[in-house]
Amino acid sequence: MKKIIPILILSVMVMTLSACQSMMEREIKKGMNRQKVGMLTDGKLHVVLVGSGGPIVNTKRCSTSVAIMANGEFILVDVGPGSVRNADLQDLPLAALTGVFLTHFHSDHIAELGEANFQSWAQGRQKALAVYGPAGVDKVVQGFTLAYEQDTTYRIEHHGEATMPPAASRPEAKTISFKDPARAELFFDRNGLKAYAFLVDHAPVKPAVGYRFEYKGNVVVLTGDTKKIDILTQQAKNADLLICEALSFKTTALIGKVASENNRPRFAKIMSDILDYHMSPVQAGELARDAGAKKLVFYHIAPPVPNFLAKRLFLEGVSDVYKGEIILGEDGMAFTLDPRQ
Ligand SMILES: [Zn+2]
Ligand SMILES: [Zn+2]
Repeated sequence: MKKIIPILILSVMVMTLSACQSMMEREIKKGMNRQKVGMLTDGKLHVVLVGSGGPIVNTKRCSTSVAIMANGEFILVDVGPGSVRNADLQDLPLAALTGVFLTHFHSDHIAELGEANFQSWAQGRQKALAVYGPAGVDKVVQGFTLAYEQDTTYRIEHHGEATMPPAASRPEAKTISFKDPARAELFFDRNGLKAYAFLVDHAPVKPAVGYRFEYKGNVVVLTGDTKKIDILTQQAKNADLLICEALSFKTTALIGKVASENNRPRFAKIMSDILDYHMSPVQAGELARDAGAKKLVFYHIAPPVPNFLAKRLFLEGVSDVYKGEIILGEDGMAFTLDPRQ
């Protein structure tokens, strides 16, 4: 009897371990097949807010990144901190990443370029990652390439060139130049997806751009970081989705006041400086109204809106000026646009 009990316990343990192993195997298989590759082949235009926040760290929203997916193309517009991890957790097929479009070179838009390149390469990307942006993009790409140079070498040496193709290891900078700075520039036209860049006003950050995407009759416009200027109204004309940055001036001023009262002069100064190169949510509403945009989606939401009070302050007055649908973006929020033509 004394011998039988340990044998019984052991066999239950062995059974449990083997059951665990097969359960784990099923989970791993599920994990491996979880990516939403169908978004690339269903003939529709998909837009995913990978990161809908601004530069201030918070648990609800990571910094800026938006996925545009259509007919084999998968573009990430900006890659702010946390965005590549988010993209993976949102089951976006990183191996199929075909490009990164940068709006400007503030850290909350570029910080994960190294990870965007590395993760998509490790997951199976076969060609070099094209990184588009206004003048200066080559410097950013060179910097990340240098920072990841040793990592890239280790990966190739360890796994072999067949597994980690060197030709796909380093990102390629593609500078967007403007024939006429007052007009949008068509710089990408592939597989039916067209992308235009237009210069915005985020001074002293120069150049800074917004992007307009067109696919099968649908129009999606991303403002990038900017104050309200005329070209935005032209470019957002009748947009199906206007994905618009905004900064709550009221909350920012409130944070500045509290920072100053609590001996945080640097933070207070930054809060006062940033008011001059963004749009307020009401200005974004006016833009959506003037452009006749069908839907206004806020992204690059700043300061963070962690609760009901902050959301209310952020959206205050927007519905007075814009009567269309107003959406406060969240990480992982996805929009599907059926073809119109
Ligand atoms: Zn910026
Ligand atoms: Zn920003």
